[in-house]
Amino acid sequence: MSTSAAVTSQIDRLSPTAREFVEAAPHGLLIANQWGSGNGSEFQTEDPSTGAPICAVAAADPADVDRAVAAAREAFDNGPWTTMAPAERAMLINKLADLIEQDTETLAELEALDNGKPLVMAKIVDVPTAVRHLRYFAGWATKLEGRTIPVTTPNMFVYTRREPVGVCAQIIPWNFPLMMAAWKLAPALAAGCTLVLKPAEQTPLTAIRIGQLAVKAGFPPGVINIVNGDGATGAALVDHPDVDKIAFTGSTAVGREIGKKAGEQLKRVTLELGGKSPNIICDDADLKAAIRGSFQGIYFNTGQACNAGSRLFVHSSVYDEVTSKIAEMADGAGVGASLAEGTQFGPVVSARQFETVNGFIQSGFEEGATAAAGGPAERADDDGYFIRPTLFTDVKPNMKIVREEIFGPVLVASKFDEIEEVAAAANDNPYGLAAGVWTRDIGRAHRLASLLRSGMVYINAWGMADPAAPFGGVKASGIGREMGGENLDAYLETKTVWTNLG
Ligand code: NAP
Ligand code: MG
Repeated sequence: MSTSAAVTSQIDRLSPTAREFVEAAPHGLLIANQWGSGNGSEFQTEDPSTGAPICAVAAADPADVDRAVAAAREAFDNGPWTTMAPAERAMLINKLADLIEQDTETLAELEALDNGKPLVMAKIVDVPTAVRHLRYFAGWATKLEGRTIPVTTPNMFVYTRREPVGVCAQIIPWNFPLMMAAWKLAPALAAGCTLVLKPAEQTPLTAIRIGQLAVKAGFPPGVINIVNGDGATGAALVDHPDVDKIAFTGSTAVGREIGKKAGEQLKRVTLELGGKSPNIICDDADLKAAIRGSFQGIYFNTGQACNAGSRLFVHSSVYDEVTSKIAEMADGAGVGASLAEGTQFGPVVSARQFETVNGFIQSGFEEGATAAAGGPAERADDDGYFIRPTLFTDVKPNMKIVREEIFGPVLVASKFDEIEEVAAAANDNPYGLAAGVWTRDIGRAHRLASLLRSGMVYINAWGMADPAAPFGGVKASGIGREMGGENLDAYLETKTVWTNLG
């Protein structure tokens, strides 16, 4: 199947409710439960399937960011939120989850339109995952317990309290806009923090819709604030002296900058950054499952996933079989507009990503790699940002396509013979987010799981995520974990209380 023909606009394909949302633009900033246009400047969000504008959104400048942070500070210091019973906080988070679930159709359409992902994926992956996330963390609100400490000092009763860290700046990327918003909001709200969320400039729509649903759910003013805008808006948020904690997901370059600022200002920080994750297929693997899992592992979401399995290592005895089958599947993949029937993979998110990913593909050829599927893409001015699933075979370790994160539908494959050799090759990269092993040998699976330097290892699977299981990376892939109890720790401070029993 080939790339679909250009469509001028997908707005006509929307349901009446989603269309009504788009036509209600320009959409504003959410500060203290009021929607407003801020300083009055706007930007257009566009549809990557067509390159056509969707609608205008207000852009927050530093003064708007200041108002949003002040609203979050007021809600944290003086609002009903921090004194509310944990069970009531849980009820509000669950209410938001319910409203999102009831709004699945509209949210999925807006997500597909704004980001370019196939509608069916938004409906069966992005929205339900966001709902599950909120429900899981709602359960934590009533379980944030301290400890009593048996100290050596006589006559002392010592206990700890787990207290919310305060005002959180939450900055998210464009690859899973709704899911990323839920990953950030849920633990912060469960911990009792207040927050200012900045969605990516490419994909603001579903965060705005969530803001509307949060107001409807009944969150007190200032608990959830949303500021749209570009990197400057994000930077103003990071720099703001009244922000206590920064949670960021995005590129390693921006993550480093934020980490530096957080260090200077001693703000709490978690960084969920990029990856170049190795995926290892051993000679004894269930090849059918390994091929299917590895194909989805890289090309799902058009390769725009931090935990994409972008470096494939295949045992030399099965290398030709695996790579030729993946190439065949890539050649047959349905690449098309997000709201069109039968689309398996959508476009990349923007003209900039199109140029970047194409530049990487070009560099692969220049450095002597061979493409078994896909290759450089061309686009007409009125077309979307479509790049076909691309597979480079027999790559060398020092090639740019092997070392750097591409964040697009590009897989690089190489051969190995020994386990120690493949573990060393897999670890030879600055990133350490995820890694995968396909084998029927349980000893080999767990030996590799211990040898691979990454935050997550998938055995005979790829890309699993569950709100209960910690998600995150080592090395240049970031600091801290999302999901699970570990994620709560990032939104809590421990206070130690000493009482003299006399
Ligand atoms: P990015 O620049 O890191 O953007 C992520 C978020 O940070 C966006 O909301 C962005 O705002 C904001 N931002 C940008 N500069 C900032 C600054 N100086 N201070 C505070 N916030 C700032 O990522 P991108 O440009 O969208 O994508 C570039 C690359 O990042 C990709 O090719 C990929 O390698 C990586 N990436 C990784 C993930 C992941 O899940 N780990 C997700 C997306 C991208 P604007 O969107 O308004 O600029
Ligand atoms: Mg968009």
